[in-house]
Amino acid sequence: MTIHHSEKYDVVVVGAGHAGCEAAMAAARMGLRTALYTLNLDLICQMSCNPAVGGIAKGHLVREVDALGGVMGQVIDAVGIQFRLLNTSRGPAVWSPRAQADKKLYRAKMRQVLEAEPNLRIKQAEVVDLILEDVGAIHESPLPSNRRVRGIRLRDGRRVEAEAVVITTGTFLNGLIHCGEEKYPAGRSGEPPSVMLGEALRKLGFEVARLKTGTPPRLDARTIDFSQFQVQNGDPVPTPFSFRTQSITQPQTVCWITYTNERTHQAIRENLDRSPLYSGRIQGIGPRYCPSIEDKIVKFPDKPHHQIFLEPEGMDTNEIYVNGMSTSMPIDVQWAMVKSIPGLENADMIRPGYAIEYDMIQPTELTPWLETKKISNLFLAGQINGTTGYEEAACQGIMAGLNAARRVQSREPVIIERTRGYTGILIDDLVSKGVDEPYRMFTSRAEFRLHLRIDNADERLTPLGYQVGAVREEDYQAFLRKRQRVSAATKFLLQSRLDPGSRVGRQVYSRLGMLAGGQFTGASPLTGAQLLKRAEVTAEDLMEWIDEGLRDVGAIHESPILSREEARRIETDFKYEGYLAQQERQIEQMKRAEARHIPDWFDYRKVSGLSREVVEKFTRVRPLTLGQALRIPGITPAAVSLVNVYIEIFQQRAAEQAGA
Ligand code: FAD
Repeated sequence: MTIHHSEKYDVVVVGAGHAGCEAAMAAARMGLRTALYTLNLDLICQMSCNPAVGGIAKGHLVREVDALGGVMGQVIDAVGIQFRLLNTSRGPAVWSPRAQADKKLYRAKMRQVLEAEPNLRIKQAEVVDLILEDVGAIHESPLPSNRRVRGIRLRDGRRVEAEAVVITTGTFLNGLIHCGEEKYPAGRSGEPPSVMLGEALRKLGFEVARLKTGTPPRLDARTIDFSQFQVQNGDPVPTPFSFRTQSITQPQTVCWITYTNERTHQAIRENLDRSPLYSGRIQGIGPRYCPSIEDKIVKFPDKPHHQIFLEPEGMDTNEIYVNGMSTSMPIDVQWAMVKSIPGLENADMIRPGYAIEYDMIQPTELTPWLETKKISNLFLAGQINGTTGYEEAACQGIMAGLNAARRVQSREPVIIERTRGYTGILIDDLVSKGVDEPYRMFTSRAEFRLHLRIDNADERLTPLGYQVGAVREEDYQAFLRKRQRVSAATKFLLQSRLDPGSRVGRQVYSRLGMLAGGQFTGASPLTGAQLLKRAEVTAEDLMEWIDEGLRDVGAIHESPILSREEARRIETDFKYEGYLAQQERQIEQMKRAEARHIPDWFDYRKVSGLSREVVEKFTRVRPLTLGQALRIPGITPAAVSLVNVYIEIFQQRAAEQAGA
């Protein structure tokens, strides 16, 4: 006799990758009974490709996930083996942290974090289908859906009931690996693909497309002559990702830089007919900005060499990641490519590189809170939505988990505006424009870059995270204390003049050429705010003075009063004051467009003056606001103005009919 076993949760998350872990943690932190199902519990948050977190714009996303109470920042801070703050020669808007990770420790640490969460269960099983319920039209919701998800089915036949489901299956849906002439179904190297769930989603009528990504070979460190390479050190004082990390305690390591050469390029050129990319065997579209080495050779034939970084995969392994040599060439060609580089002549290849094609679901199928329009209470996040990268996955994961929880709580969804975070930009781009190549974040995607810095991510997002229950009380209290420190220091700098006779004063004024023979030559000493407007003065120069000043007035008792990052934030606010104020005004304008809602009953076919193509685009995306409508590719401001006018007309007509 079969014993019927049934499980029931508020939120079920499918897939324990970078999106799934954040989604599950967010829902659980918000107090909901949550379960996370994944194919292999030993590979939680496996870094499928590069063992690193962050980088330009991606580091911003990690900061935002952290500010919302997420875990990625804390995990990488605990297991990072080389930290670098990138882009510091440019303005503070584009500074971004990056860290090399110990890949094995990353998985272990993430699992530890998940296991410590009381409301979360983690389970190993393959999810093969969804359980749906027909509920008729949902009038209170802007979703055109008349079905809702009720749970999941597992491959072993079990059913798991859930109020909301978040799918985060990465590259696994109908995954197909290519390595030279070889191809075989897989989700990642050594792991099975997710075929049944892929088919189930196709049958539900979701618009599916094929994308492709690739990874380089890994080498054995014992067989490499590192003396041939340039050493790349990390920063002497690592910048943590998490606002909650005090210091980095993990031992640090170095990476190495080298280059491809004519022999490498020749090995590739001579074998292009065996490349699945150039023989037409790969149909999926790959990331343009992160091309395979064969792509670089074909597209930039005049470039004599390409940079390669050799990066350790961990502290207690010999495995070296060959960053810059992503490839799906046959294995014998990969050997030839590797051995063509001085220092790698005797290198042993531990794992070959490969490419993978997989299904994505077109994100125009989603609302701005990542719920599918076809099936309510069903959310999608991560690479399944056409993005690439751990950080892009994590920020969608936290938003999907948070909104799945809000749905179960019968609360309004949470949307982060473009003006408030890169997370908002990413999701808005996905749901408004759709994806025709793997989407990665760049700082250039932001309209107001200077406003969206790594140092103020908590100011932008932590109050929201706390309000919805995703940020813990102690973390919020720490945020409030920091806010108090920053505001006291700002006030001090506005009001206090730096004494030219003090130690800090002598240093700063002499740098400004305002001291001659020990005598102050200016009209009067300058305030901290005035000093920080000068390019020659940094907040770090003034830290000792700020510390003494605030301690004297008894404003703050913590020591040191400001961290280096808090000091830099104050400096940016003063240095770029005018520019930031101008951006504030533009942000207000943009918010007004965002505030104009397009009712869900709005019928674009009835707007005279819109072309059929434009009506089709509007109907496909169903933008929620005029702001979102404007960002749909191919939609002109004139078309949006027409919609604006017709909202009034339709509303007036409806009112007249109701009155008649
Ligand atoms: P993943 O991290 O892939 O996690 C998916 C999870 O879903 C896994 O835990 C899996 O076990 C689980 N799962 C799948 N199906 C089921 C099911 N039916 N039931 C239960 N669980 C299931 N990104 C870059 O930024 N740059 C790169 O160069 C790059 N190269 C890549 C190369 C390769 C070969 C691969 C595979 C990925 C690469 N990526 C790259 C992408 C990066 O790995 C992903 O963007 C990121 O891991 C996506 O996170 P995710 O959470 O969406 O999915």
